[in-house]
Amino acid sequence: MIHPLVEYFRCPEHVAVLGRGGQLPPEAGYFRFGAATCYGRQSAGEPSPDPVGSLVDAAASVSVANGKVVLPFELAEAVDNLRHEQYPEAQRAIEHISTFNLSHAAYYLVRPLLSVGLRKHLQRLHWRGWREIPFPAWPVDTSVETLMRQAVGLALERGGVEEFPFIWFWPEGAPAAVMMTHDVEGPSGVAFCGDLMDLDARNGIRSSFHVVPDAPWSSRVSTKQLVADLKRRGFEVNVHDLTHDGHLFRNRDRFLRHATAINARGREFGSRGFRSGAMYRRQGWFASLDIAYDMSVPNVAHLEPQAGGCCTVMPFFMGHVLELPLTASQDYTVFHILGDYSTRLWQEQIDRILAQHGLISFIAHPDYLIEARARDVYTELLGLLARLRDGRGAWIAPPSEIDRWWRSRRRMRLVRHGTSWRVEGPESERARVAYARLRDGRVVYEVAA
Ligand SMILES: [Zn+2]
Repeated sequence: MIHPLVEYFRCPEHVAVLGRGGQLPPEAGYFRFGAATCYGRQSAGEPSPDPVGSLVDAAASVSVANGKVVLPFELAEAVDNLRHEQYPEAQRAIEHISTFNLSHAAYYLVRPLLSVGLRKHLQRLHWRGWREIPFPAWPVDTSVETLMRQAVGLALERGGVEEFPFIWFWPEGAPAAVMMTHDVEGPSGVAFCGDLMDLDARNGIRSSFHVVPDAPWSSRVSTKQLVADLKRRGFEVNVHDLTHDGHLFRNRDRFLRHATAINARGREFGSRGFRSGAMYRRQGWFASLDIAYDMSVPNVAHLEPQAGGCCTVMPFFMGHVLELPLTASQDYTVFHILGDYSTRLWQEQIDRILAQHGLISFIAHPDYLIEARARDVYTELLGLLARLRDGRGAWIAPPSEIDRWWRSRRRMRLVRHGTSWRVEGPESERARVAYARLRDGRVVYEVAA
């Protein structure tokens, strides 16, 4: 099995000097590893059923033996439990979608008939108390990034690693990646796609439009026409759910039947990517889809219909499928749940993700940008993103290109070249060597000149 440090950093194996010591007790629970909240088994102390209060800090029980840093937990297990939402709050949310939920079913049935005002009112009731949810952290959770940074710090500080080279996260040394996606939710959204393409194109942003293949509001012919129009103008098209009825993950048999149809529509669209309706998800089921990348997992899902979150701002693999997580809040959430017609929250999320060099990803619906004041805020966001690209060198790319890069990076290798390091493998000419270093007791990442 690949070491989690090698998987995350693409560093040489000899610097991945962290391992687990002894047996782990069977019971999983929340614990801390320095500043990171974790869930899993550990031998440092009492596991906690809740992510709050004084959690046992596994960092206090780290030891060194035979040149190895010995952790009281399994690093891979801790990372996987976060990414794959295997912690109690997220698991409860998954169970919730498989139990027949009358209010949910009724909501989806009458949703088209409800005024936006009434929908908002119902949704605000549903999400009451969300600000008190302690974990994952709002508005961006970077537990996986914190965990990895601390692990590298231990390798440098206590593992005798003098130099920690790795393959930088993004091409050409970009400090972060940006991905703009548009889920088309109804006839008014379809009608607005042309204007939205103009808006994105004016800012040089190549976005991805996500089309519901068997939408009740569109004929097969019109859907085909929409896909053709989007592609003709150079935009990416991906599959958005199948019918968008909110039941895709209800039960396994139904999902598998629908997966066959989704795969067929994906081939018709010429798409390699997928996003479920309303960000519903069971990560283990995506392997049944014939896709390269999925975009259905939020970073922190307090304001999504299904709670949880993957606690990372980096892409990660779920079997053969690469997850490109949603790391910024949806336009619907910002405008209609939070009632905030500004870019304030998005700016805060951008800053936090940029600090971790992650993927800054958005969903803006053509359906919700028709209103003038919403469109103004979205236009302001595009300006922020263009400045991030032109001023800071951020890489703005459609999902297919981010997928291709992440897969190339996984196949690259760092090889020693005299006193320095060189990247070899597919697209290695776009790759940069970086170093993790300790500076005043903090781990910093630097791209080599
Ligand atoms: Zn949708």
